Amino acid sequence: MHKKAVLKINNVKKYFNSFQALNNISLEIKSGELVVLLGPNGAGKSTLFSIITGLSRADSGSCFINGCDIAFNSINALKNLGIVFQQPTIDLELTIKENLFFHSRLHGLKLQNVKKKIENELSRSGLEKKINNKVRTLSGGERRKIELIRSLLHNPKMLLLDEPTVGLDPGSRTDLMKKIIKIKKSETLSILWTTHLVDEAEKADKIIILSKGEIVAMGNKLKILRIANEKKLEKAFLKIVKGV
Ligand code: ADP
Ligand code: MG
Repeated sequence: MHKKAVLKINNVKKYFNSFQALNNISLEIKSGELVVLLGPNGAGKSTLFSIITGLSRADSGSCFINGCDIAFNSINALKNLGIVFQQPTIDLELTIKENLFFHSRLHGLKLQNVKKKIENELSRSGLEKKINNKVRTLSGGERRKIELIRSLLHNPKMLLLDEPTVGLDPGSRTDLMKKIIKIKKSETLSILWTTHLVDEAEKADKIIILSKGEIVAMGNKLKILRIANEKKLEKAFLKIVKGV
């Protein structure tokens, strides 16, 4: 069956004064796909996310979410988007419940409709007993899980995760990675996940390697290994990014 593109980016360019942060970025993500955008620090991952989320405008090119142009129809485009930003954006002085209920209301969701979903998700993450605890008292990994639950409250078609595991200890990182992969299996959700950590790309349907604002390789793991003539993704990534 032909699957529809949930995210379609065409020839996006972005400049900061004379510095070109993104050069001719084109990519497509289909329904249910897990795509990892892999690139070293400064590659342009967050800049691309700021364009997809409508926080900044591309200097040229276009970006459509579920057929809606983010630059001209941002309200409808954003309805289909769930986001976990690189920097945590959760209110530390509110409880888990207050944070999640507030965001439900912001999305125009009736609490009676989302209450069960929130309880189920918290219990799947082992956080149900902490629902009335202030977020300040949670660990970094727990806070990120709450942000992940929050990003999915309105059942978006597309989930953006900008380096969600940064700053987490190894156990919490593995835990969060497993949770994301589980979400992808259980829902018809497309995911774009940025990282500079190669092992996070191992389970992706598609890997996009970004270096100095350009896509330098794109394909499934086998294709990336073939392009670089390597057996391990880590080595293939380093080779492709160095351009050797
Ligand atoms: P990544 O998320 O891959 O680490 P970024 O998208 O944050 O990379 O940054 C890409 C490049 O663009 C970097 O060289 C960064 O310094 C530059 N950059 C990002 N935002 C701005 C800005 N607002 N003004 C000037 N330069 C910026
Ligand atoms: Mg970034």
